[in-house]
Amino acid sequence: MLGQKSALVCGAGGFIGSHMVKRLKQEGFWVRGVDLKYPEFTGTVADDFVIGDLRDAHVCRHVADRHFDEVYQLAADMGGAGFVFTGENDADIMHNSAMINLNMLDACYKRNIKRIFYSSSACMYPEYNQMDPDNPKCSEDSAYPAAPDSEYGWEKLFSERLYLAYQRNHGMEVRIARYHNIFGPEGTWTGGREKAPAALCRKTAMASDGGEIEIWGDGKQTRSFLYIDDCLEATIRLTRSVFTGPVNIGSEEMVTINQLAEMIMKIAGKNLKIKHIPGPLGVRGRNSDNKLIKEKIGWQPAVSLKDGLEKTYPWIKEQVDKG
Ligand code: NAD
Repeated sequence: MLGQKSALVCGAGGFIGSHMVKRLKQEGFWVRGVDLKYPEFTGTVADDFVIGDLRDAHVCRHVADRHFDEVYQLAADMGGAGFVFTGENDADIMHNSAMINLNMLDACYKRNIKRIFYSSSACMYPEYNQMDPDNPKCSEDSAYPAAPDSEYGWEKLFSERLYLAYQRNHGMEVRIARYHNIFGPEGTWTGGREKAPAALCRKTAMASDGGEIEIWGDGKQTRSFLYIDDCLEATIRLTRSVFTGPVNIGSEEMVTINQLAEMIMKIAGKNLKIKHIPGPLGVRGRNSDNKLIKEKIGWQPAVSLKDGLEKTYPWIKEQVDKG
């Protein structure tokens, strides 16, 4: 179609990527998705979907073989605490995600595709600012001196710098967000890579009323969680803005993991005991700081944690019930 905008979504088989494809299609874009796999839970609505490994520079050149108005680089070897904080996957996480970013960014540069969004993570913030669960510091300017608590965070930091270097040296128009715990339907909910909201929804859905669920640690660690629709809106607005970032995209509604579990139980209508067990944890406290994104692009979240969970829990319950 003449004048139709186009987008390339890398990681289009994953949680955020598959939702991003749907959102761009609703906006009338021609969309190409690329991933190692098709989306797990619904068929893709992408106009073109390439199954390919973005660690391979040839695959990157192949998917970036035409002009795209916008590129969303959401592919990464990632997961929740059970994947990132055990230490067992460190080499894969660093190697795979760095290769994807090195090759994809360079392929876009070589095809003169300028506008590329990169999904960094709040995991790149220094551990020393996130020891106090009631008062974590995650303002964008607190990133250095760098001391992320995981190799996943170090890779994100390296790649942020890579994208910024391509902007400085090669005239790319990069946009970088640091996502803080995105959740919603059609995200990973089992298998070891799921994150706290999905894991707790699954455990709650599987437990009988009056039973028990397990939580890693004492449950007093704090986090905030952003609903997927808010994440997409902020990502798109940032990508189309003149602001490069890096900037936080997250919620400022901080809760303890115990509180999160209680909210989910209430939605499920179940009364469950919480059993605290040892497990991989990450930092003691984390919350988004949205001052900069509000100032630069006027965005703030629209969906509360409760409303987001009310949409997510039934979807996970449905998956559990399907067996
Ligand atoms: P996801 O795991 O659901 O999606 C990532 C996708 O990348 C997967 O479908 C995976 O198959 C694909 N991928 C991995 N290696 C690939 C390769 N070599 N070639 C092609 N595709 C490959 O994760 P998500 O939650 O959708 O996250 C998207 C991005 O946002 C990631 O960069 C992630 O690090 C970042 N992020 C997410 C969160 C969150 O809470 N979900 C928080 C911070 C940052």
